[in-house]
Amino acid sequence: MLSLIRELYPICRSITGDGVRQTLKILEKHIPLELTEVPTGTPVLDWTVPKEWNIRGGWIRSTSGETIIDFAQCNLHVLNYSTPVSQRITRTELDPHLYSIPDQPDWVPYRTSYYTERWGFCLSEKQRQRLTEAEYDIFIDSTLDDGHLTFAECVLPGKTTDEILLTAHICHPSLCNDNLSGIAVATFLAKALQQSRLRHTVRLLFIPGTIGSITWLALNRQHIDHVRHGLSLVCLGDSSPFTYKRTLCGKTELDHVMSHVLKTSGEPHQIIDYFPYGYDERQFNSPGFALAFGSLMRGQHGQFPEYHTSADNLDFVKSDKLEASLALCERMVEVLDQNRRYKNLSPYGEPQLGNRGVYRSLGGIDIADTQLAIFWVLALGTGEHSLLSIAERAKLPFKIIVEAAQILEKHDLLAAQDESSEL
Ligand code: ZN
Repeated sequence: MLSLIRELYPICRSITGDGVRQTLKILEKHIPLELTEVPTGTPVLDWTVPKEWNIRGGWIRSTSGETIIDFAQCNLHVLNYSTPVSQRITRTELDPHLYSIPDQPDWVPYRTSYYTERWGFCLSEKQRQRLTEAEYDIFIDSTLDDGHLTFAECVLPGKTTDEILLTAHICHPSLCNDNLSGIAVATFLAKALQQSRLRHTVRLLFIPGTIGSITWLALNRQHIDHVRHGLSLVCLGDSSPFTYKRTLCGKTELDHVMSHVLKTSGEPHQIIDYFPYGYDERQFNSPGFALAFGSLMRGQHGQFPEYHTSADNLDFVKSDKLEASLALCERMVEVLDQNRRYKNLSPYGEPQLGNRGVYRSLGGIDIADTQLAIFWVLALGTGEHSLLSIAERAKLPFKIIVEAAQILEKHDLLAAQDESSEL
């Protein structure tokens, strides 16, 4: 994952443009992707697909020809979505077009201007202080033209059409935790899930933030009913404890499963309530769609000092943190797949487990627990209780409850209640 992040780091991405295409091309070396290009001007929900932005370079030079700020050194230096400009300008006129962080004098901020056409440079406070001459030559070689918004999907078909929808935003330039860590975890999750037999279909979206999910939702209105659970994967490579942000409803199966997965992971974590800010969960939870969409992160949106600055770099993300994030996502999909509801097919009194050969199936080390688990699954076999809620009521490990259900199903004593959409 870290080497994928290193490969993607130098690319200047934005909500549209060749940086996004280049990024997706690299991801395609790892996983199958279906690309969609949506033309500028396409109405999407209450929005419109914007002009496509591309950039080749940009600098601030002294009138003697010395380059002081250079896009080629750091792609954060040009305001993302900046209009082109080429002129000699006074220092005073230049000032309102400069963005720096006085509190972090060595860091270059990441700023955007997607929906207002303007030009600008981002630079460290120290660099800004050094701009003491009366005039400068400035140049931004960018284009804002009719083009496309590009996004990609990786679909891993499961046994049913019920979907787990995972999103990673792909619209940030050289920033590692915010956006590249999510991309890397999502890519390697897809790679891992390709090897497993899935019950849910898993769809991973690689999309620009906000306008990307709005565009996807606009194009997939017919498809929304298949989505059972959704999660945005963001900021998963830094050293903060995990934060799971609940769905808007807060009591969905996903909230239940994420709480279980985090609790049993042994990883430090916190679970926070939904708030209508952050990443793509805002679009998916909107009342017209009302999908059960949470968000998994380590450092929180806007809450760590390196957020949206040049300090969110290759040193800020750690291999072991990415690995733990990936493991957590894999476990989430596994638990969602296993967390089924069953009906006891012999509900009048206890079935004769001995005669049916159930006891002979109990190999392994936890025979006593498995036997107890079998009685719990039968007792709560009304079709209403998920295996996770049975495990909690029984105070038994989820794994043992799942095994018990599988044994009973094999002996025709249990039928899953959630197979309506089986392929
Ligand atoms: Zn961001």
